[in-house]
Amino acid sequence: MGVTVTTLGLPAFGHQPDRVPDGMPADGPLIDTFGRVATDLRVSLTDRCNLRCTYCMPAEGLDWLPGDELLTPDELTRLLRLAVTRLGIANIRFTGGEPLLYRRLEEVVAATAQLNPRPEIALTTNGVGLAARAKGLAAAGLDRVNVSLDTLDPEHFAAITRRNRLDEVLDGLAAAASAGLGPIKVNAVLDPTTGPGDTVELLRYCLRFGYQLRIIEQMPLDAGQQWSRAATVSADTIEATLRREFDLSVDPAPRGSAPARLWLVDGGPATVGIIASVSDAFCSACDRTRLTADGQIRNCLFATEETDLRQLLRRGADDAVLEAAWRTAMWRKAAGHGINEPGFVQPQRPMSAIGG
Ligand code: SAM
Repeated sequence: MGVTVTTLGLPAFGHQPDRVPDGMPADGPLIDTFGRVATDLRVSLTDRCNLRCTYCMPAEGLDWLPGDELLTPDELTRLLRLAVTRLGIANIRFTGGEPLLYRRLEEVVAATAQLNPRPEIALTTNGVGLAARAKGLAAAGLDRVNVSLDTLDPEHFAAITRRNRLDEVLDGLAAAASAGLGPIKVNAVLDPTTGPGDTVELLRYCLRFGYQLRIIEQMPLDAGQQWSRAATVSADTIEATLRREFDLSVDPAPRGSAPARLWLVDGGPATVGIIASVSDAFCSACDRTRLTADGQIRNCLFATEETDLRQLLRRGADDAVLEAAWRTAMWRKAAGHGINEPGFVQPQRPMSAIGG
């Protein structure tokens, strides 16, 4: 990998910007060349996970990132402060891997809650272990959680996740609700065989407990690069399946940058969301920027390039240099993820290492 001296004043490796691009604002909102503004930061805290969902990880797991490559809590909170105070980030979501495996999660949440302006703080988790930590996380400043749950059937759950931990997830959801971490969203990726039945039961369950179900089309982000369009359950199929059991009408509320298309269920006010990430991409409204556990900025889930903030941090970069590097990374964001285009290349990092 070549070393270049950048106009940001520091030697850079790999995908560091060689210079600040022409026309890129030096301050103000975190904008790209298509005029999209990123206000929502997804932070992957770890690439490790305690489930092995078939569409995400192989049964034996992956080679985890070495410890010295992970951002320390101090490095991470410095970047979070910069994101909020200099880049206009208003929403921070901690994810992974499984963020509950990150031992200092409560500490990082508490530091994030001290930022001014205070961002909204959310967590995406598989729910395993949440029952014991929901209250403490709420006390630390966590505002809400999304819990990933693809089925309520214990056998289907074990087949999808390769673990028997459904009860722990359900306990986690209940604890999150009683800790006030709402509105609670349940994220589901459907299995091609059992998914249609699973989704009906999931919606009944979510309606009963007041959770908001969001069903997501499976994307080509699995570690094994085995994704096939034919083996995913499309948004149209999900909608048709739910319509057999429920009355769905378009939610009149403006969608904004939300990835889910919302339907009122049986006249509302309960809703169900369908996220057509592949069949009807919403890239033109994307407001996200991503930070991986090893300190790389990604401007898209499907980006094939990353910007190495960890290296800049460890070489003593000041905030202005980090800010310029982050802005440059986002300035270069592509118009769309390109999944449906002929030359599409799946990113090397799987979802678990990017942060979903
Ligand atoms: N472990 C946490 C969890 O399960 O929510 C956070 C990380 S997980 C990667 C985040 C979300 O990504 C989960 O809802 C999971 O179902 C989803 N996911 C993983 N692989 C996916 C894929 N190939 N396509 C679509 N969603 C995926």
